[in-house]
Amino acid sequence: MEDKIIMGNSIDNWIEKHPELSHIMQYNPVYWQNNQVMKISAIKNDLPLQLSDVIDAEKRWERFASIIKSLFPEMENRQGIIESELIEIDKMKVALEKDYNLMLSGKLFLKLDSHLPIAGSIKARGGFYEVLKHAETLAIEHRLLSIEEDYAKLANEEMKQFYSQYGLSVGSTGNLGLSIGIIGTALGFQVTIHMSADAKEWKKQLLRDKGAKVIEYTSDYSQAVTEGRKQALADPKTYFIDDEQSIDLFLGYSVAAVRLKKQLKEQQIEVNEDHPLYVYIPCGVGGAPGGICFGLKMVFGDVAHCIFAEPTHSPSMLMGLLTGLHHNLHISDFGLDNITEADGLAVGSASKFVGKMMEKLLDGVFTVDDDDLFRLLALLNKTENIKVEPSAAAGFMGPFQLLKNNALQENNTVHVIWATGGALVPDAIMQDFLKKGESLNNK
Ligand SMILES: *Cc1c(COP(=O)(O)O)cnc(C)c1O
Repeated sequence: MEDKIIMGNSIDNWIEKHPELSHIMQYNPVYWQNNQVMKISAIKNDLPLQLSDVIDAEKRWERFASIIKSLFPEMENRQGIIESELIEIDKMKVALEKDYNLMLSGKLFLKLDSHLPIAGSIKARGGFYEVLKHAETLAIEHRLLSIEEDYAKLANEEMKQFYSQYGLSVGSTGNLGLSIGIIGTALGFQVTIHMSADAKEWKKQLLRDKGAKVIEYTSDYSQAVTEGRKQALADPKTYFIDDEQSIDLFLGYSVAAVRLKKQLKEQQIEVNEDHPLYVYIPCGVGGAPGGICFGLKMVFGDVAHCIFAEPTHSPSMLMGLLTGLHHNLHISDFGLDNITEADGLAVGSASKFVGKMMEKLLDGVFTVDDDDLFRLLALLNKTENIKVEPSAAAGFMGPFQLLKNNALQENNTVHVIWATGGALVPDAIMQDFLKKGESLNNK
């Protein structure tokens, strides 16, 4: 391995330049503080997207509300708005303080994207948005819809017939596939999901039950995406949702920031220079956390701080940022195996544009052991009676990682842990997760 050359440098050279790499390559949990982060005013004009893009996406979500209600009757009492709760988790805070033997000042909140309606994960934001936007575009192009009309008509039989001539396709470790499969088949599209080896059996089954075609790969996520993209390109009537480079997914996620601002206001939680906002989000390819981070920076400005969490075995965003290689790096180049129970985060190469965009926006990245994911999900269940999947538990260590590294200045910080998935996990599997976590906690 010593002789391997990655973008002109040997691995030894890379380690010499970035000594943290040696810890990362040994799967040690690390906290990496980004010292390139800059004031938003200084970099805004260089960003490829702006606040207006977030607002535009939010308006589109509003147009989608009536079709969402028509497709999913359970959305009637939510007015067709796909959104999750923001709750304060005092009991979990006490348990974490005890666990880490550190006192955390400020307030600790949980953003429950783990329980987003219909898709049960953060992918309801990006995946639903892109599929609905594509459905909107097709209908408008064929003069079957204008944006002033009630979008409920997109759910009628005629439209279903229309959409059934078209294909949707995506490469996924699981949850993105679920979200695309659920909404895509509901609209009438022919949906093909290219699943990586880490994808859980129950997710594949659920998709087949919905009428989606599931293609399984023995390789990792990057390969599933590459294959899916290739096959979709060969068919002009198939639209490929490209998790490695989709602007639409990214903007779908970004709207979470607008919603969070509203929720904080409703709960009379101040966010300003004296009350900074720190948000901790699990990161896979980067689209979801990147979109949310971008949205937060646009909506709150410099008082918002974003920190990503990755498994010690899949730190692709971290390694991409650290080396500046971004998507040109696959963690296997450095000998990492990309094996983790956090299937939503099992990604070896970061998104083609998110890493670059995060260079000056992101405060830092930390990595988490798989065992800690289980410990934390069990602790959350015990203290707050909330169930999340392993990927979704990655954020909880965040505030304590920052404390340990003297990276928190304010006492009045508003900490938001982003829980990203779990509501659709079958009971028996959730019980296994909990049992595993409890036994680790009792050690
Ligand atoms: C997809 C996913 C993430 C991360 O999103 P990316 O866009 O892949 O970075 C985090 N948690 C869960 C549960 C997910 O499914």
